[in-house]
Amino acid sequence: MIYKLNGRGYDSNSYLIVDKKVILIDPGTPGTFEFLKKDILKYTYKIDYIINTHCHFDHAGSDYLFQDEFNAPVLIHELELPHLAEDSNVTVSKLFGMDLVPPKEIFTIKEADSDLKEIGIEIIHTPGHTAGGISIIYKDSLITGDTLFSYGVGRSDLPTGSLIELRESINLLEKIAYKKGILKIYPGHGEAGDLSAFSNAMLFI
Ligand SMILES: [Zn+2]
Ligand SMILES: [Zn+2]
Repeated sequence: MIYKLNGRGYDSNSYLIVDKKVILIDPGTPGTFEFLKKDILKYTYKIDYIINTHCHFDHAGSDYLFQDEFNAPVLIHELELPHLAEDSNVTVSKLFGMDLVPPKEIFTIKEADSDLKEIGIEIIHTPGHTAGGISIIYKDSLITGDTLFSYGVGRSDLPTGSLIELRESINLLEKIAYKKGILKIYPGHGEAGDLSAFSNAMLFI
């Protein structure tokens, strides 16, 4: 089962996958920790992994709080890991006027590959918004981070972003989405959508 937990203010949306393992995706910023924790506790008392679609502060800023609360390791693409671990300029925390507190335990997403596969989660590397951005397939759902929104696409002008890569990533996602029978697009911000997100994206890329 997948639950969409709407981001508050400029926070990213969070997603909770409750299966044999429980996965929290993109917990957002520290300021909304208590609200999100309450939302999560409606569905689960344990979290096995926290996954970040990318290292931006509005997605990963409260990793450390959820890690402490639920004793769960953080997983992120290998190209994002050093930025999250050091709060480099790639996290854009300064755009939010904050410092990012890195979580203590961060692993590359590859290291949990077999655990994620076991519950049917598939990771797709989708650079363009940031170099190590990922999208996540679970059943008929595609979680797209800031690569693709229901009515637009993510910025490609931030550190490690690339419009060319963003275009390629969205094209790749579209192919995979049709092949795998994806019905739901769950973006990093805004409302959930369907495959019309891909035709909407063409207006921007
Ligand atoms: Zn975002
Ligand atoms: Zn972002």
